[in-house]
Formats: sequence, structure tokens, C-alpha cells
Amino acid sequence: MGKALIIGAGGVASVVVHKCVQVPDVFEEICIASRTKSKCDALKEKLDGGRTKIQTAQVDADNVDELVELINSFKPDIVINVALPYQDLTIMDACLATGVHYLDTANYEPLDTAKFEYKWQWAYREKFEEAGLTAILGCGFDPGVTGVFSAYAQKHYFDEIQTIDIVDANAGDHGYPFATNFNPEINIREITANGRYWENGEFIETPPLSEKRVYDLPEIGPKDVYLLYHEELESLAQNIKGIKKIRFWMTFSEKYLTHLRVLENVGMTSIEPINFEGQEIVPLQFLKAVLPDPASLGPRTKGKTNIGCIFQGVKDGEEKTYYVYNVSDHQECYREVGSQAISYTTGVPAMIGAMLLLKGEWKKPGVYNVEEFNPDPFMEALNEYGLPWQEDFNPELID
Ligand code: NDP
Repeated sequence: MGKALIIGAGGVASVVVHKCVQVPDVFEEICIASRTKSKCDALKEKLDGGRTKIQTAQVDADNVDELVELINSFKPDIVINVALPYQDLTIMDACLATGVHYLDTANYEPLDTAKFEYKWQWAYREKFEEAGLTAILGCGFDPGVTGVFSAYAQKHYFDEIQTIDIVDANAGDHGYPFATNFNPEINIREITANGRYWENGEFIETPPLSEKRVYDLPEIGPKDVYLLYHEELESLAQNIKGIKKIRFWMTFSEKYLTHLRVLENVGMTSIEPINFEGQEIVPLQFLKAVLPDPASLGPRTKGKTNIGCIFQGVKDGEEKTYYVYNVSDHQECYREVGSQAISYTTGVPAMIGAMLLLKGEWKKPGVYNVEEFNPDPFMEALNEYGLPWQEDFNPELID
């Protein structure tokens, strides 16, 4: 049916590639391209020989000309961007220049400010519309499946959703005193930023990690959850009509937060460049270099993740609550694709979004967040491709 260019060869990209080759009728040919070609070649070596033809390439995705050259030589139908958020705009520019659809899993961030805003990518709406191309933004788990869950709740269970609490719990243990489950730089930038939630038409800021609750999660048990800003709050606040409040909660252990506090206090999480022995370095990038590579956590991580959305609203004049969530087991994910659940829960939805676009079910010219598409085929595909979801119509609520 189609050809996909996958940019990036890290934890998430590895899952995307594993999943694409499981659907060879849709992904007839893929090209894995990244800054370090040897990582692409390693993936090809592991997965070659099936019906999906695999090739690899070296590319600097910060460079539009290089991207255009690669796209023109491989001629994909879609680019799946699973590099870093810094490359979103250059890859979108290259897609526009070559007439190719686009999908990513994280919103654009300028390197020098941790901003988490869609404004840069939403500014491409007209260009994609005029070119007849589709750009799907934020198609991982959160953002991604959380938006699909919201669209599904809206379509099937509510006349009006009034509140959404997104709860992202990771009860996995990798045995290291401190490590991040995905790119440490992106992860730490997100956690050390101010918290923010949407209420009555505006965002309300809270100091980093200052709002804490205990939530009893199915298959995981009671956990400390902390309020964070997360990028899907911005798009859901616009796309879920009548919404009054949206919050995002993530679990952190006391051990993790103690390490983070110390690293912050000594300046290691700063993104301001400093001069070190005549060379300019960014402390957070140096920290990334000394922390365990997230890709190496797979074989060591035991336990489960549970990510879902709790909705409150009204149906046929009655108050209603609904909770939909996925539970993934780190070791089962590792057995299937050689990655832990954090990469797995991001890579599977990226493959599904690309598949639906190639099949024409999620194709509409413009730049869209996932909740703007029909959730039904995506929900079905989640069950089929490894992220089954469960429902609770009487969940515990977060105060
Ligand atoms: P990794 O750091 O493991 O992988 C990133 C990959 O991108 C690496 O292969 C890296 O190359 C490559 N890369 C970086 N810069 C460039 C460049 N200029 N040109 C070409 N390739 C480049 O990250 P993850 O796989 O953990 O994350 C991938 C994306 O997924 C991120 O954007 C992250 O924010 C997002 N994400 C989304 C989630 C969601 O639920 N929505 C959850 C988790 C992650 P090299 O090997 O040379 O460093």
C-alpha cells in the first residue's frame, strides 16, 4: 500500500520499525534514517527478511536540504518523525517541499527554551491544506492515545465533557538509582517546568511538582501522582467543546524526585550553555551523556504502566463519569520488540496513525491533533496491535 520514511533510530523509532514490519500490507517499504546510520543498520539487520523492504540512510534532520534530497530519492508517502522535537519544523518544511504527509509524537520545541506550545506547528495549517497534505501531530501515547480516548469518550459517552484528568503511571523498576525512561533531556525539561492546568478558559500555573495526590490505579495500586503541564492540554482545551477543566498527572517515586532535586540544585538540569575548560556545554546535555541510555533499560525493567483518562460530564441530562486506560507490562513489551513499555506505548500509536493515514481513514489536508480524527478505527487498532484498553464507568475521581 505505501512507503514510510522513519526519521530517528532511538527507543521509539525501534518500536515503530518493529510494528511497521508486522503490517507489511500497509508498510510495503520503509527507510530508517537518522543522524547515526549504524543504529538504522542495526535495526535493519534485526528485522530484514520479511515482506516489508527495509533500507537505511544517514540524515541530519536539522537540515531541510538534506531531508529534501533523501525524500526525493526514497519517495515515501509519509514521514514518521520520531527524532527529537527540535526537528519538527525542518521535517515539516521538507514534507511541504516534496509533497509528503507528516506525523510526529511531540510538539516542536526551540532548543534554547522549554516551551511546549503548538503555535509553531499550527502556523503550518494553511500550507498543508493548500498542498493537500495531512500532518498528524502528537501521535504517541500522551500526547496521542490520550487525545483518541478523549475523542472516543466525546463521541460515544457524553453530550458534554466537563473535566478530564489524564493519569500517566509508570510502576516499572529498572534497578538503577536514577535514569529516565525516554530521552533524558526532553524528560527533565518537561518535569522541571512549571505545572499548568486548564480551568474555565485559562491556564493556571503551579510551581514544579507542587500539586500531589494519591491515586489507586488498576493493576498498579495506589501511587503518588503529581500535576504537570503536558502538551495535549493545549489542543484538548480547544477541541473538546464545553470543557471546563483539564489536568495531567504523572507518577514519580520519592527516590526519583530526590535525585532530580539534587541535580537541579547543583545546576545539572540547566539548559543555559556554560563554558567548561574552553568549550561551551549545556549542563542538561552533559547529564544526558552520563545517565543510562533509555534504550538500555529494556532488559532490566520490570512492572507495569497504566495511562488513561478520567472524564466527568453529562449525558442525556445525567451526570456521568468514565475512565479508559491501557495497562502495559514492561517485560512483555521487551519480549515482543526489545524495548520497555515507555517506548512501546509511544511507538505503537505512531505506527497506527501512519497506517490510518496511508489507508485514507485519517487523511485530511491540514495540520491536526489526533482528537480531530475519527477515534473508532484507532481504538480498534490499539486492541489489535498491542495496547488493549479497558473501561470503568464508576471510577474513583481526583479532587
Ligand atoms: P531517543 O533519544 O532514544 O532517539 C532520538 C533519535 O533521533 C536518535 O536516534 C537520534 O540520533 C535521532 N536524532 C536526533 N537529532 C537528530 C537529527 N538532527 N537528525 C537526525 N536524527 C536525529 O528518543 P526517543 O526515541 O525516546 O524519543 C523520540 C521522540 O518521541 C521524541 O520526540 C520524544 O519527545 C517523543 N516521545 C513521545 C511520547 C508520547 O507519548 N507522545 C513519549 C516518549 C517520547 P542519534 O542516535 O544520533 O542520537
